[in-house]
Amino acid sequence: MIAELIDAFFGCKHSHYSFPISVRAGSQSNDAAKLTGTYVACLDCGKEFPYDWQEMKVIASAAEQRY
Ligand SMILES: [Zn+2]
Repeated sequence: MIAELIDAFFGCKHSHYSFPISVRAGSQSNDAAKLTGTYVACLDCGKEFPYDWQEMKVIASAAEQRY
């Protein structure tokens, strides 16, 4: 129950992410990469999240962010 709430808020409760992957604009991209051009993948569940190089952190709730 609580884990599901955390999952809903942060998208993923895991903490093992791949090294950030940058994709070029215009190339085939996923939703996670559209936000910042860089994304990381969760090594536990495979979810992909936008990654902010300047903040050096994963942007967990892409829907909440406005760019
Ligand atoms: Zn995960």
